[in-house]
Amino acid sequence: MDWKGRRQSDNIEDRRGSSPRGRNPFGRGGGIRLPSGGMRRSGLSFKTILIIGVIYLGLKLIGIDPLQILAGRDPGGMLGGQSQTERQVTPARQDEMTQFVATVLAETEDVWNGIMKSQGRDYPEPTLVLFSGAVRSACGNASAASGPFYCPGDQKLYIDLSFYDELAQRFEASGDFAQAYVLAHEVGHHVQNLIGVLPEFNRRRPSMSQSEENQMSIRVELQADCFAGIWGHYTAQKGLLERGDLEEALNAAEQIGDDTLQRRTQGYVVPESFNHGTSAQRKEWFARGFDSGRLEACDTFNNPV
Ligand SMILES: [Zn+2]
Repeated sequence: MDWKGRRQSDNIEDRRGSSPRGRNPFGRGGGIRLPSGGMRRSGLSFKTILIIGVIYLGLKLIGIDPLQILAGRDPGGMLGGQSQTERQVTPARQDEMTQFVATVLAETEDVWNGIMKSQGRDYPEPTLVLFSGAVRSACGNASAASGPFYCPGDQKLYIDLSFYDELAQRFEASGDFAQAYVLAHEVGHHVQNLIGVLPEFNRRRPSMSQSEENQMSIRVELQADCFAGIWGHYTAQKGLLERGDLEEALNAAEQIGDDTLQRRTQGYVVPESFNHGTSAQRKEWFARGFDSGRLEACDTFNNPV
């Protein structure tokens, strides 16, 4: 991707090197999957929080950790499974990656400002929070193991840049356009938040069965992939794509499909537990956005996925 020398976004909050203030109210670190869909925790009334707190403590008392249950359920960041380790990244590389994500974020701002304007809407730009290790968001505390995520409660995107090394090494999805796709997918969740898709999902979730919720989650995630594709479409139009870039994004979409991830991490596939979409679905919907550049092409709710 031909990104150097282009505008970099100012909507970056660098929280690397600072640990989240206060204690994680839920104790143990690791793998709380919080999420693009972490909307359960946004906009809760005091009473609801109180009730959740009482239920939480009750379950803890009988030896069940509700967060461990939620961990497997929340649709979210980029991955249906857990990402694993934190890696040390050298300062120079961090610097270049910071510039890279700031540039990609700026490109998403330009594209989505334009699209929303054409729809007669505003585009309040999201903030990108860079963190290392762990971070506090309006959706709760998260660790790097959660992977990148979007929190609708504060309209911020969160990424620990070491995820990109993991993406390249563990998930075999290397390349700058693969990295851009990850960010554009999270921006896609922000767009969904603005146009009401995430709030609607959030509203309906409590009355859904687990399998209904997974099915809906897949449609939400595939739409975010499609929105990432729309961004790719305009990036290509500007002549910023280099040979192999599109393949990088499609490969990333393939590598983080639920089926491929499960095969990699547990050796077998449980389709009922899918909540992000299969490799084929994720590639397909990214490609639909990429080919058309149109919001209407991304209606994953009224079309078979
Ligand atoms: Zn997502």
